Amino acid sequence: MPRRRMIYEGKAKILYEGPDPDTIVQYFKDDATAFNAAKKAVIDGKGVLNNRMSEHFMTGLNLIGVPTHFIKRLNMREQLVRKVEVIPLEVVVRNVAAGSMSKRLGIAEGTSLPRPIIEFYYKDDSLNDPLVTEEHAIAFGWASQQDLDEMISLALRVNDFMCGVMYGIGVKLVDFKIEIGRIFDGDFQRLVVADEISPDSCRLWDIETSKKLDKDVFRQDLGDLGDVYAELATRLGVMPKKSSTSGPKLVD
Ligand code: UDP
Repeated sequence: MPRRRMIYEGKAKILYEGPDPDTIVQYFKDDATAFNAAKKAVIDGKGVLNNRMSEHFMTGLNLIGVPTHFIKRLNMREQLVRKVEVIPLEVVVRNVAAGSMSKRLGIAEGTSLPRPIIEFYYKDDSLNDPLVTEEHAIAFGWASQQDLDEMISLALRVNDFMCGVMYGIGVKLVDFKIEIGRIFDGDFQRLVVADEISPDSCRLWDIETSKKLDKDVFRQDLGDLGDVYAELATRLGVMPKKSSTSGPKLVD
């Protein structure tokens, strides 16, 4: 097979040209980063687990009629997705106060919110992804009012689905981030969930013990991130068979 052309390398994934002009191959790396890449590590097998977990969530969303870019998983680390024009806004949905919202507003971590709260962050690492309002998004041309309304409705549907999936495995969905992209059909555009949905971009707390089952384990040095992701994948029923999370190793 000819070597594929790399389109972009991000913190946790590499994007390659897909077999058709409207597809992309997403390769999941083992790299973990936090605090805008100020903290970095390689977590053996993380890419394999996130590939499986993102496949699981995206497949479920497609099945219940929430459009996503996901087409199919290709192998342990890669999935085929539709090429989209990513809207430069991270969409965060919160069910329980935590993280930056707790800090900014002085609301104790763990406080249940009376309704899901949606926030938009402008995707720009050099600015540290600042929180923005709908007014900013419209004024600076990142999204129209109609886009934003549709993004909110998509995000709430993803939230309902993910809350249910997590409740089924004894986990509380505290908050999560999604990215949304445009797909063009002639003159029409559709918005779809893009990027990935994985414990890298969610806060997940065990309902019984409040144990953290997400990237905060890495951010706050709470334990072995690989073990935690493997536990989550096992609960979800998507744990890859045997020790296939890492490739062959050279013998010294
Ligand atoms: N999040 C993410 N990528 C980012 C920022 C946030 O995936 O660049 C996720 C994060 O894992 C959490 C949610 O979005 O599930 C809300 O994050 P928050 O704003 O509280 O920021 P943090 O405390 O993670 O810096």
